[in-house]
Amino acid sequence: MYNWGRMRRVGVHTSIAGGLSRSLERAHVLGCTTVQLFSHSPRGWAVKAIPNEERERFASLRRDLDISPVYIHASYLINMASPEAALRKKSIAMLREEMDRADAIGADYVVLHTGSASGDDAAVSRRRAIGALNEVARSGRWAAGLLLENTAGERGDISSRVADLAEIFHGVGGTLVAGVCIDTCHAFSAGYDIRRDDGIRAVAEEIDHAIGLERVRLIHLNDAKGDLRSGADRHEHIGLGRIGTAGLRRFVLAAPFRRVPLILETPKERETDDARNLRAVRKMLFGEQ
Ligand SMILES: [Zn+2]
Ligand SMILES: [Zn+2]
Repeated sequence: MYNWGRMRRVGVHTSIAGGLSRSLERAHVLGCTTVQLFSHSPRGWAVKAIPNEERERFASLRRDLDISPVYIHASYLINMASPEAALRKKSIAMLREEMDRADAIGADYVVLHTGSASGDDAAVSRRRAIGALNEVARSGRWAAGLLLENTAGERGDISSRVADLAEIFHGVGGTLVAGVCIDTCHAFSAGYDIRRDDGIRAVAEEIDHAIGLERVRLIHLNDAKGDLRSGADRHEHIGLGRIGTAGLRRFVLAAPFRRVPLILETPKERETDDARNLRAVRKMLFGEQ
């Protein structure tokens, strides 16, 4: 039997301190075959251009280290659904910047939390996010694809349900949106019981009907501090949360999802946390210690 497990791409979100290509080196040291990074500090609107040497260095290093796909996580400041026109405008400009930067370094995807209703009605906010995304889609063409991530169902979330993601996915024209990213912690907190076979089957069917399983281009593999339907966006170390090792294993090895790359966004409280969480995932996938 063909061993999909061995082919499975596994990585972690790594730091860009010291330059963007340092994230690739950090990923490689951890034995990763895929990576996620911020393209700049995610907490500020000011963004510095990526120097040409850094673009070239990133592209060649990534080839040498065989790290693929490369995912950029878009800035947390972006809120495509904001009722404030000024913030929406800044968000549109920032998302364009993220797409430009992805193309500059040859990243494959940009991952986006679509936004928060900020006290407004969720359906109205979703339509606002669709409008803002269409502005981005109309303003350019990029080699990188945008992935819409499911959220945990915190107050103001507009995309914690598959149907919500599907509405945004289908509402944006052009070639901007390539697919979706499914975060296990967010899905669980939003009420999808992905620990169980019937829960996995149900969510897979829902995604397949509403979006298409081939559009799932990334799994954010995180355990959850909060319980099922808690609505809490609180990531936990692999195996130490409410989903647990057996539940996460069942989900990542389930037929609909077993070829999708995995990126960990687990807590980094200690130096050794990434190595330990990656070891737990490899053991889950390959049976290694
Ligand atoms: Zn995530
Ligand atoms: Zn999260």
